[in-house]
Amino acid sequence: MALRFYNTLTQQMEFFHPLEDNTVRMYTCGPTVYNFVHIGNFRTFTFQDILRRWLRYRGFKLKHVMNVTDVDDKIIKNAAKEHKSIDEYTSVYTRAFFEDAAKLRLQQPEHVAPATKHIQVMVEAVERLAAKGYTYTNEGSTYYRIAAFPDYGKLSHNDFGGIRSGARVDVDEYDKADARDFVLWKARRGDEPFWEAPFGEGRPGWHIECSAMAMSYLGETLDIHAGGVDLIFPHHENEIAQSEAISGKPFARFWLHAEHLHIESQKMSKSLGNFYTLRDLLGMGYHPEAIRYLLASVPYRKKLNFTFEGLKAATRSIERLRDFEVRLTSTRLAPGKNEAVTERSHEAIRMFEDALDDDLNTAEALAAIFEYVRAMNTALDEGDFQEENRWDAARVLEVFDTIFDVLKPGEGAGKMDEERSDAGDEVLSDVGIEAQIEERNRAKRSRDFARADAIRAALHDQGIVLEDTKDGVRWKRK
Ligand code: AMP
Ligand code: ZN
Repeated sequence: MALRFYNTLTQQMEFFHPLEDNTVRMYTCGPTVYNFVHIGNFRTFTFQDILRRWLRYRGFKLKHVMNVTDVDDKIIKNAAKEHKSIDEYTSVYTRAFFEDAAKLRLQQPEHVAPATKHIQVMVEAVERLAAKGYTYTNEGSTYYRIAAFPDYGKLSHNDFGGIRSGARVDVDEYDKADARDFVLWKARRGDEPFWEAPFGEGRPGWHIECSAMAMSYLGETLDIHAGGVDLIFPHHENEIAQSEAISGKPFARFWLHAEHLHIESQKMSKSLGNFYTLRDLLGMGYHPEAIRYLLASVPYRKKLNFTFEGLKAATRSIERLRDFEVRLTSTRLAPGKNEAVTERSHEAIRMFEDALDDDLNTAEALAAIFEYVRAMNTALDEGDFQEENRWDAARVLEVFDTIFDVLKPGEGAGKMDEERSDAGDEVLSDVGIEAQIEERNRAKRSRDFARADAIRAALHDQGIVLEDTKDGVRWKRK
């Protein structure tokens, strides 16, 4: 079977092929750099990395653009509070994002586009919309008139016919129930940062940012546009309204959306405060490869429930594969080649490929690899695996690692082996300790006292003493 993806736009599984020159023109919405991103965000970015790698494995060239939202209300507010320019404020988090992404082995898109470096194309996009009658202004801000775009709602599959009242919304994020004319250009307020434009001083809204940059790098019709499911409405719906109003052409052929990472049945999010950053988890001694593996292991359209048990299981899975790799190179084998083993190796690769062709079914792809490793370990035990079969097996691992990229040990942070990291030869950071305490609080709230006790005991082994007080948990180092 050939490569196929589930397309949010058509709500169907569709065979995928790029429109032109075997090159996939792809745009993914990047981070808003007002803080450290959390591992929920990284679930979506890891899905995009697997997507990139699979498209390349399938022989396509890639032209992938990711934006960095480095101007928005939160950024402006936080920067002002810290008496910094928005550039000074965001550069810390932009750098942190790329450091974290590198630790998770996420390949860099061909173009990374910070919004503030592309204001001119956004101004031009607003002008084109204005010239075609899709905009109006109010108190210096320019809005998109959704009633002028009859297809509004086609991505989120909502009928917004009844609520196109001409009411406006100035914030970038809002609910379906609040579908309104959205802001393209926000008028300058007070001493906030601003840019000049023919239609007044101000700054771009979030939605025009992505439409304008996507079209300026990739042309009027993209092959793939991707992001997390929370972006379907309003962000991507608005991108379609803007781009298609400008070009009169379909904006993106395939829309791919990753489900959320949850923790205790709730979406992990900054606003709920129930998040871990990559840095938190590394501080607790977990390894980036294990986090990458966990984030990639659940197919992207399924919710991923984050647990520490899951993270430990990911650690063990990688160990199993690395042990097999070592066994492959270190075992003395009889000369020659067992054709049945060669055939089984080819079959493993076929199954792995079929799974990823099927809308990136990473769980099936992993199952194919683990079944293969089990079979090969048995073949090694029973002397059925011969000298020349090493290359067959090495090829299977190579194909696997081209996509999952977890076999090569990382540098620095954490250790793969739980026992060793529990032995207390590593100093836990304060952030790591607090994250563990939070995990214990959660366990207690869900009446999982065994888990809560286990966390207390693990911290104790690392020289951290907890004291439950009426104001919460205090901790100290022994
Ligand atoms: P943001 O920085 O908030 O714009 O988000 C960056 C990316 O992370 C977007 O594609 C979001 O859809 C995605 N995202 C946010 N929260 C989660 C979550 N809990 N699980 C998976 N993806 C998420
Ligand atoms: Zn976007």
